[in-house]
Amino acid sequence: MIDDATIIGRMEYGGHGERTGAGMSLEGIHHVTAITADAQDNIDFYAGVLGLRLVKKTVNQDDPTVYHLFFSDEQGRAGSDITFFEFPNAPRGRAGAGMVHAIVWRVGSAAALDFWAERLRDEGIEVERGADSLRFADPEGLAHELRISDVGDEPLVAEHPEIPAEHALQGFDAVRAYTADPEASAGLLEALGFGGGAGDWEARGEARGGWVHYDAPPEHRGMQGAGTVHHVAWASTPEEHEAWRERAIAGGARPTPVIDRFYFKSIYFREPSGVLFEIATLGPGFDVDEPLEHLGEKLSLPPDYEHLRERVEANLKPVSSPRQRVG
Ligand code: ZN
Repeated sequence: MIDDATIIGRMEYGGHGERTGAGMSLEGIHHVTAITADAQDNIDFYAGVLGLRLVKKTVNQDDPTVYHLFFSDEQGRAGSDITFFEFPNAPRGRAGAGMVHAIVWRVGSAAALDFWAERLRDEGIEVERGADSLRFADPEGLAHELRISDVGDEPLVAEHPEIPAEHALQGFDAVRAYTADPEASAGLLEALGFGGGAGDWEARGEARGGWVHYDAPPEHRGMQGAGTVHHVAWASTPEEHEAWRERAIAGGARPTPVIDRFYFKSIYFREPSGVLFEIATLGPGFDVDEPLEHLGEKLSLPPDYEHLRERVEANLKPVSSPRQRVG
């Protein structure tokens, strides 16, 4: 069957390859979005234990009864932004083929790994220490890995009274995804300017880089649920966003139209291994609807829902961040 996307894809291959070709590169990982069954527990772990800043408390644009929480560095910058949709009481999921199964963060030193090993153990979290890494899972089973980083990218750090700045998380290094056939993704990743090969690919821009590593999948099928990643977003300048959409099409993907997420603009498509990719713009950013000093303190609503605020708020269980409780 030939549909519009197929035809547009062929046209792009045949005609406009050069126009969108040279000089563009994605600026690493923009954000990673996962699912939680409990917004308050999620805030307590990511802001309280991991020391990220809750930079936006909003709702799912398609379902305003559901929280969408964003945690990031102090300025709410892309590259350190992990977000969660809350589906209250959702059953645990598990990662399988075509899903991201672990999130890799940068830290500054072996001393930072020691610090986190102790801090996480004190919270009752099991950790696995490697020579230059520390693995653990959040309370819902979402896997994380901290790695000592020697890349020159600016560390993206949040402030937390119990976490010395030199030990804080410094933003994303990579996502790890499951696939039986990483080669299947090579063509599209090359079209999107990723460098690498085999199972390891990096999107490196002028300021930042980020990797996707592919690992052999487990026997069981994946199940989206609490503690699983929904998608990974790669960062684009606002000016190049439309051109990335064309490039994705030229690479064989079928991206959505550009969707306005208010804090950034987005397109989505599945890469051939099955992982849901997004390309999101660097800006306008989380301070577009509230001042930087007060990010995440009150419920932010998309413009379409603002007139329904009372009803939306009545449907959501109130949550607070550790900063609000201290301050
Ligand atoms: Zn996203």
